[in-house]
Amino acid sequence: MECEICGERAISSSLERCERHFIDYVHETVRQTISRWNLLQDGARVIVAVSGGKDSLTTLDILDRLGYSVTALFVDEGISGYSEHLFEDLTRFCKDRGISYKKIGFKQEFGFTQDEAVATGVYHPCTICGTLRRYLLNKHAAGYDALVTGHNLDDESQTIMINIFRANTRLFTRPGLASEPSRWFVRKIKPLYFLTEKQVLIYTLLTGIRTQSLKCPYMKAAYRASMREELNQYEASHPGTKRNIVETHSKIKSMFLSSSQKTDADIGECERCGQASNERLCKACQMQQTIRRAIGR
Ligand code: SF4
Repeated sequence: MECEICGERAISSSLERCERHFIDYVHETVRQTISRWNLLQDGARVIVAVSGGKDSLTTLDILDRLGYSVTALFVDEGISGYSEHLFEDLTRFCKDRGISYKKIGFKQEFGFTQDEAVATGVYHPCTICGTLRRYLLNKHAAGYDALVTGHNLDDESQTIMINIFRANTRLFTRPGLASEPSRWFVRKIKPLYFLTEKQVLIYTLLTGIRTQSLKCPYMKAAYRASMREELNQYEASHPGTKRNIVETHSKIKSMFLSSSQKTDADIGECERCGQASNERLCKACQMQQTIRRAIGR
């Protein structure tokens, strides 16, 4: 198989690009995604939520190459045998590229680690991690033009299908390429939205982005793992499935939003932390209280 641009040997039969033109394709896809959907202005100051995995390091790498002012934000959940290795990958990457980074942690912010919270058994591990992580990212991204995440086409199609399978109409409007900023929430954008997990993986191999292939120890409990497997099987037998899912979602999301979107005036303030809340305490503060009580602190 030959590269469709220069005729050199293609990197695989399913990707008709040589190494150089594959890397160009990835950069161009991200550049076009940003420009077509007006995700960022030239020279924007962004903070990238970095797990230390391949998707987030690729996001940092590409935005840096495209000339944006990037800072990496690492949330240390305190997952033993996992978080510390991801942070090592991140610091090595940032030092090599001269990119600034910040680390925040569950222990420092909430007084307990993810491992300690999971041991109480009061919430599903991913509910704790997802709620508290989102809370910290929004809080620490204040003042930046956007909070950037490394979600790719696989992540997004999985999330959409999980919300449908769980009949979760409230969360159905959450995935998407970008969210609008408000008094309470920083703008969130996903520049890798139209790249598949496989394309991101190949990009990291070709550009020398080194990550350890670590899996979160709580992953096996995740509903997402089985959805990933199902969608990969569908994609293999029906190419384009994942893209169709995100495009269909984007079309019907606007109908949901017009009837359900809240304005700043509809949202109150958590009386404990001052972040957005529809109740006296926000979800993250309610969760912290329950976990601290269960731990006995
Ligand atoms: Fe957090 Fe691990 Fe669950 Fe992912 S799988 S949300 S890292 S606990």
